Amino acid sequence: MKRPGVRERRLEIYRKYHQSPRGQEKNREHARGYRARNPDAWVKWRSEHPEALKTSRLKSKPKKAEYHRHYAARPEVHARRLAQSRAYRKTPKGLESARYYNERRRARKLKVKGSFTKEEWLKVRDATDGVCSYCGKYVGVEKLTLDHIVPLSKGGTNYITNIRAICKRCNSRRGNRGYIWEINPATGRYEKWEG
Ligand SMILES: [Zn+2]
Repeated sequence: MKRPGVRERRLEIYRKYHQSPRGQEKNREHARGYRARNPDAWVKWRSEHPEALKTSRLKSKPKKAEYHRHYAARPEVHARRLAQSRAYRKTPKGLESARYYNERRRARKLKVKGSFTKEEWLKVRDATDGVCSYCGKYVGVEKLTLDHIVPLSKGGTNYITNIRAICKRCNSRRGNRGYIWEINPATGRYEKWEG
């Protein structure tokens, strides 16, 4: 038989814990973990709750403004971070990230349907064993670039099923762009480049 009041007392303890700084940090940690494990659920939730995001943005506004004031007063920090991120984009891992985020930005601009995670892209890329999915030549996985099978501009989606890994040569020849966005080894910059 249950003792009366035990459940209530226990709930009170949980409530107190979740409101404490340690409990709140744990909650945030848990949410981060959940979002990382379920990226699509998070994307879906976000698109269904625009007002919740707006509220949270408004809430953090003063804090952000303070951060930017602090940041603006220290240009050397800005320069250092910029240099760091430029250096990172020259590493294989950074290059991969840049490619992924650039495609995401492009897809968002075109307001196309669908999204995929970086892990999904890497899975597609690595499944090729470094062979271009267009011309069939071996170039090595690091040299493969992201390509939409049906181009976004022609109504293709941004779901992983419409993504394949092709070599730079094919990426620049194919499609309606005639160029690719790549790190140009000559300048080290991310730019339109006839690779
Ligand atoms: Zn190719």
